[in-house]
Amino acid sequence: MEAVTMKALVYKGPGQKSWESVSVPKISRPTDAIVRIAKTTICGTDLHILKGDVPAVTDGRILGHEGIGVVEEVGNAVSNFKQGERVIISCITSCGKCEYCKKQMYSHCEDGGWILGHLIDGTQAEYVRIPHADNSLYAVPAGTDEEALVMLSDILPTGFEIGVLNGAVKPGDIVAIVGAGPVGMAALLTAQFYSPSRLIMIDLDQSRLDMAKRFGATEVIDSTKVDAAEIIRSSTKDGVDVAIEAVGIRPTFDVCQHIVRPGGHIANVGVHGKSVEFEIQKLWIKNITLTTGLVNTNTTPMLLKTVESKKLQPEKLISHHFTFEQFPQAYEVFGNAATEKALKVIISRDSD
Ligand code: NAD
Ligand code: ZN
Ligand code: ZN
Repeated sequence: MEAVTMKALVYKGPGQKSWESVSVPKISRPTDAIVRIAKTTICGTDLHILKGDVPAVTDGRILGHEGIGVVEEVGNAVSNFKQGERVIISCITSCGKCEYCKKQMYSHCEDGGWILGHLIDGTQAEYVRIPHADNSLYAVPAGTDEEALVMLSDILPTGFEIGVLNGAVKPGDIVAIVGAGPVGMAALLTAQFYSPSRLIMIDLDQSRLDMAKRFGATEVIDSTKVDAAEIIRSSTKDGVDVAIEAVGIRPTFDVCQHIVRPGGHIANVGVHGKSVEFEIQKLWIKNITLTTGLVNTNTTPMLLKTVESKKLQPEKLISHHFTFEQFPQAYEVFGNAATEKALKVIISRDSD
């Protein structure tokens, strides 16, 4: 590698960030790879970090946990990848060897988990160091739409694993998703693998609800205009089979616990900054299941096949494109998603 410095999006403490020159990362352990980023994106979690909601992220950290790129260099112990190969970077780093990895609970890897753009430097940069590269990267199949593959780093496995699989969506189910952000939309797309009879999307933003309709929602509810829980209860026998919470605040958790039917599932995906009130006095008798979780990304290889075959078309979720030099504008647009009608933004290296 010739470059010594590179440009990166650096967190400078709450409310502050800068697109600036920093040192190019180096291999520090034999299991590392250095990846030259081709395309990356911004996650709602990056906005949480910028607000100061994730204190583990310290001043000087390069943000980002999603992207695809080209392997630039590998450590001696990396055997699955070599220089020049195109790869998808998983938001979860996993050693593949610890107790949690052996259970495919990669999010709790004892030497990994969600560390990129959090505890170590991330992907919103020209280069990134990926620890445990053998288990944390996935080869890009020739001929696939690489922008679609960026959605496999985080949002698709999150919506699928923590929403659809934890919620145990089955054919014929009535499924409600609260929150039509990228994660809720990923749950909407992947719930369709199981042919639910009704797929209801709830949000406050009409343009996102319009998108949800185009992506397969059978009904949408603007909860600024009506009482979503009331509408759902009155249009079903006794509620929904699966309620997926994809926002992370008490009012949306409440919608879920007010619409779940006996024997149903509440799958919480949203990251909560404050506690909610779980109405166990009403729900204990309903035989419901409540699940939580951080994405494991253990379904990434399966989801990759569905993207390759075009069964899943996550490129639909991309609303805006930028180049690396436009990183500050990309944050501006993504940070004002409602007025900008933004969903997922792609930021690409100029020369790729
Ligand atoms: P986002 O902020 O883009 O989307 C949230 C959506 O919720 C928006 O469309 C907003 O209009 C809507 N909303 C806000 N308040 C509402 C209300 N009162 N009623 C109805 N809708 C409301 O976020 P995202 O990127 O889609 O992520 C969704 C959540 O998932 C976030 O909390 C994020 O941190 C979390 N997340 C969890 C994991 C995990 O592993 N569990 C991984 C990634 C993201
Ligand atoms: Zn994320
Ligand atoms: Zn591990």
